[in-house]
Amino acid sequence: MSATTQAVAPTELLDVLVVGGGPVGATAAALLNMSGQGGRRPLRVAVLEPNRPAVMAADAALDSRVSALSRASERILSAIGAWPLMPLPRLQPYERMRVWHESVPPRSADVLEFDAAYAGEPNLGYIIENRLIQSAALAAFEAAGGKVIAGELSRLRVHADHVEVETGAGTLGCRLVVGADGARSRVRESIGLAAETSSYHQTAIVANVRTELPHERTAWQRFLRTGTLAFLPLADGCSSIVWSVDDAAAARLRGLSPSEFEEQLLRQSDGVLGAVKLRTERSAFPLQKLTAHRFTAHRCALVGDAAHVVHPLAGQGVNLGLLDAAALCELITGAFRMREDPGAQSVLRRYERWRKSEIEPIALAIEGFNRYLAHGVGPLSRVAQRGLALVNRTDEVKRFFITRALGLGGELPRIARRPAAAAPAPLS
Ligand SMILES: Cc1cc2nc3c(=O)[nH]c(=O)nc-3n(C[C@H](O)[C@H](O)[C@H](O)COP(=O)(O)OP(=O)(O)OC[C@H]3O[C@@H](n4cnc5c(N)ncnc54)[C@H](O)[C@@H]3O)c2cc1C
Repeated sequence: MSATTQAVAPTELLDVLVVGGGPVGATAAALLNMSGQGGRRPLRVAVLEPNRPAVMAADAALDSRVSALSRASERILSAIGAWPLMPLPRLQPYERMRVWHESVPPRSADVLEFDAAYAGEPNLGYIIENRLIQSAALAAFEAAGGKVIAGELSRLRVHADHVEVETGAGTLGCRLVVGADGARSRVRESIGLAAETSSYHQTAIVANVRTELPHERTAWQRFLRTGTLAFLPLADGCSSIVWSVDDAAAARLRGLSPSEFEEQLLRQSDGVLGAVKLRTERSAFPLQKLTAHRFTAHRCALVGDAAHVVHPLAGQGVNLGLLDAAALCELITGAFRMREDPGAQSVLRRYERWRKSEIEPIALAIEGFNRYLAHGVGPLSRVAQRGLALVNRTDEVKRFFITRALGLGGELPRIARRPAAAAPAPLS
């Protein structure tokens, strides 16, 4: 940190600059913008984003990059006004999850089933295209007067009372930088926040497929000794597959002809949805794990993948990121209402403690699933397999996992506790 300089005049300072307008950054910005409700001066907020997705036609074919969003995420996106901007025919509610290990038949009593009805809910969440979540959150932010700046962060200079942000389009000044610029975060790197990263040496192959049998509004996931294979239900009746395997196996699978690949899908899904036909190209995503040692530094906070990246087998990345955004914004808005500095260290420390304590056990559980169910052999793996069947038969444990699947466990930000139908209200 350098001593206070006035390269940026205080009158031009933004309160918060969100670097990265992906699903998490766009939502964080829109939440901060709500600070003006009730006739108060709102926080001055802008988003810096170099790759805004093009506006898509309402009837365009569904994209293969989708996320399973929890009910908590639905509440957050509803509160910022993004939910009504997403065309209903593109959203697929899913009512249950069926998870099983390759050692048991796909429709046996040993299959772990989480049903929303069990928790008295209409569904567990929605499968939605990533670019739709991002576009809707950015549009909601702009509709409420927020500014999206097209550009990329190149350098940060942190001073005692503000931060200078260099972009290709000029220099911006703000009292707080929110780093929402994904796993390879330039913000994290610029401020020297160390992160523990490791490759899983696995690749996720993603594509949309049509299946012979209907998806039954169910997310299907089979743990294989060589990885995991998930079928997520889509609004057009197709499914999105996420097939995570070791890098070498992924290269082989991608080299197969479409019909050979479809044959492998049928075999590895144990025919649970019948024959499978590819509807899109196969895309590949190398998988890594990342945890930033600190989520905050002087006048900077990280949210979403910039702070933590988990294996996609549990479909938690966006959901955890939206909860980061909601938690940070609740604390910043509260401080601002008390006429405190939104970049104050005390606010950032509370955010870091809150979210780290929520994320660490979840990341640990996901690691266990990957290690002992998706790849494991030996005694611990057998214990984990038996554990799946036991969860299915133990009401209390099952209810715990369903609450987690709904995104409604742990210490939730206020906005995620509110039912989706409720009118947006001030954050503090
Ligand atoms: C195969 C796969 C399946 C997944 N499935 C699910 C799922 O079902 N459910 C779920 O919750 N999660 C899922 N995830 C995880 C999810 O995709 C990520 O957690 C999520 O995209 C993170 O959002 P983000 O906004 O933090 O980061 P990103 O989506 O990476 O967005 C970062 C943004 O920052 C911008 N940016 C980058 N650098 C700069 C810079 N220098 N200056 C300014 N802007 C910059 C980028 O253009 C981008 O828009 C999955 C991931 C994978 C790989």
